[in-house]
Order: sequence, then structure tokens, then C-alpha cells
Amino acid sequence: MDMNSFIFNLGKSVIQVHINNLLSHRAILRTAERRVIEEVQRAYANVPYYRQKYDDYGVDIKSIKNLADLQKLPVITKDEIREHFPAEIVSRHYDIDQCHYSATTGSTGRSLPFIFSQSTFAFYIATGVRLYTMIGYRPWHKMVYIKYTPINYPRLGPFFRTEHIPSTIAVDEQIAMLRKAKPDLLIGYASLILEIAMRMTPEDLTHIRPKFIGLNSELSTKDERELIAQVFNCPVYDEYSTEETWMVASQCKQGNYHVFIDNVWVEYLDQDGQPVKPGEEGEIYLTTSRSPAMPFIRYRIGDLGRESSQTCTCGLPYPLIEEFNGRADDSFILPSGKYLSSLKILNTFTKNIKKYLHLMEEFKVIQEEPGLVVIKFVKGKEYQEQQLSELVDALKEVLGEPVTIRVDFVDEIKTNSIKRKAIESRVGKKQVG
Ligand SMILES: [Zn+2]
Repeated sequence: MDMNSFIFNLGKSVIQVHINNLLSHRAILRTAERRVIEEVQRAYANVPYYRQKYDDYGVDIKSIKNLADLQKLPVITKDEIREHFPAEIVSRHYDIDQCHYSATTGSTGRSLPFIFSQSTFAFYIATGVRLYTMIGYRPWHKMVYIKYTPINYPRLGPFFRTEHIPSTIAVDEQIAMLRKAKPDLLIGYASLILEIAMRMTPEDLTHIRPKFIGLNSELSTKDERELIAQVFNCPVYDEYSTEETWMVASQCKQGNYHVFIDNVWVEYLDQDGQPVKPGEEGEIYLTTSRSPAMPFIRYRIGDLGRESSQTCTCGLPYPLIEEFNGRADDSFILPSGKYLSSLKILNTFTKNIKKYLHLMEEFKVIQEEPGLVVIKFVKGKEYQEQQLSELVDALKEVLGEPVTIRVDFVDEIKTNSIKRKAIESRVGKKQVG
């Protein structure tokens, strides 16, 4: 596909996703259902691995007629996709060389390669644009995004101006670039923007005055978002997206997370692969509806979340998700066998950061064994022993069971991944699928 037809596709997709905003909940649900079922049928017809998997499982593909029928299909894991990429997992109607090729950055250690067609890519960018128009972004605003690599966003004259700041450079350099770039919309990882917020001087803030901030890629807590909003004096919105399927959900102006079911269908399942009730924590499984070249059907993404049965007053037709509770593999398994999500642990720390801004510079919490949790702690410029023991007591209370907490003071926390992983469990657990 050449650049002109890509721009045409992008324009068409941008209009389409904004029309979707105006549909009723019933209408968007009906369209989502039709598209998901088409994606499943196409996967069976054109992708060798799905065909074999469903045949082996004894699924009659013609019996998959509505969203509830998805439960008749087996789920798929990252390992399966990695193992069968590309020959058996890419549709036989697509030439990989003509597709957009990428790979996950592997916050869990191993990268996953994937492709999507150029028209899927245009649709994904459009869902990205919508994320920001939802909170007030307009084409004449300047968007600055902090990311490890730049995205090749098309620009139209004075419209859609974007600038990339590498996530890998020092915070002071990022602040210097931000002063020059003067973003209207600032986008980046929660941990990085929080770090920038904590380092900026009042003088920096006279140059850097975004109208809104969007956080992505990492789990953030309400306290972190409030702190960033306070420092920058503008609203902060969170999104939930994956590299493989792009936009899954994001916060509207009311602060509720809407799930973009015109892009991806979300299921919430328990450890045995059974659906959980709204409000209960489940593992998130995704089914794409726009990715015929490489469909993801009931794909175990590895995150935890809760479906919400509430409705939002903002008028968007997309259903709500209550919250994201972090990566399933990062939740702690307590001595009693009970699970504790990484969000609850992260919350304990960010509440403390909000209270004592300069107590620590960095931290990492690792469950080494069911009965042992280690806090790696980099002291801040206003470190006080009493405040740290307050934090340890708060963590004890959240754990709620006899677990030893050890604090290791370190000079820095080394990470081999691009994304923050502040909470980590090294205790093995049962895998679904
Ligand atoms: Zn809303």
C-alpha cells in the first residue's frame, strides 16, 4: 500500500471511529458481535493453526454465531503464537512483506512477533487519535510522546504535529526537550512522567504547560495520576492498550475506562477459563475484530481486570471496565494461597510517595518466596527512617498474613526491560491455557 492510500485509509478510519462514538450501546454491540464472529470464521478458514486447533478441540465452527458462543472455543497463549509464527499463524491471504511488522518489547522477558495489514494499522492509529479527541485533543494541537522508538505518524501541513522524546535518555534531557517542544498533549509511561513531574522546577513549568496528559503502557494508580495532575495543573488520563491489538480501553472526561469493542472484544475469565461476574477480578482475554492478517482469538494477554456493570454519563456507547489490577504474573501468592494483585501493592507505595515526595527515588517490591517480600529501596533526598517504617507497616497490613518484609538499600534499580516493573513475584503459579 502506498502512502496516499494509507492516508486515505487513515482518514476513513478516523471518521468511522468518531461516528462509532455517536452510536447507541446496542448498535455498537451488534456491530462488534458481527465483526468478531467474522474474524473467527476468517481465522478458521485462512489461518492453519486456528483451523487445526479448533478441529482438534472438536468445535463446529458454524455453531459460533454470537459473542456467548466464543466460550466454545479454546483460548490461545503467547507461547502458542510464538511457536507458530509466522507460517501457521498468519492468514494465507496476506504477504508478510506487505504488512506492518512488529514485536512486543517483552516486559515479561520474551518478545512476541506479530504483523497487521496496512489497513488494520490505519484503523489502529485512528483508534489512537480517538483516544485523545475524547479528552479534548484537536488536530492543531501539538502532541509530544515519550516512547522508546518513534512512530511514523503522518502529518498534514500545520495539523497533527507530533514530536518524539526517547524514553531511554536522562530525565534532565527529557525536560530540556519538553521545554523546546511545548506540548499541548503530553503522552508517556506513568513512571517516566511521574519522574519528570518530580524533577521539574517551577521555572520549567512556565515553559511546559500541557493542556492534557495521557499515560500509557504501564499500570498507574489513582494517586500517581492525581500527583501528576497537580504538578502540571492539567487533567491526566490513563489508557490500556497492548502492542498486539492497540487500544483496548481508556478514560473519558468523567474518568471512567471505556472498552473499545469496535476494535477488540474483552472477556474476563477465572483460573479455569470460566467467565467471572462483573465486579470480580478476572484475567483479560482479547479477541480482535480488525486484524484479518493475524487474528487474535481469545488471546491470553496476561493482565487482570474487572468488568463494570455501571454506565457512564459522558454518552460514549462503549462498556466500562472498573480497573486494571496489573499483570497476572506479578500478583503475589500469600502463604494461605490467596492472591494479592500488584495494583494493591503499588497503591501502598504511591500513597506514600504522595505523602512524602522525597522519601525515596526508586523502589521495587519482589516476592521472593511465599513468606518473604523484599523491598529494594533507593533513598530520596529527604529520607527519614520513621517514614520508611510507616511504609513497611502499611505494606504489612495490605499483605494481611505473616510475611517477612526485608528492606535492601541500593544505589539504583537496574532493569532489563523498557517498561517499569515495580512489583514482581518470583513465586510460581498455575497458568491458564
Ligand atoms: Zn465516559
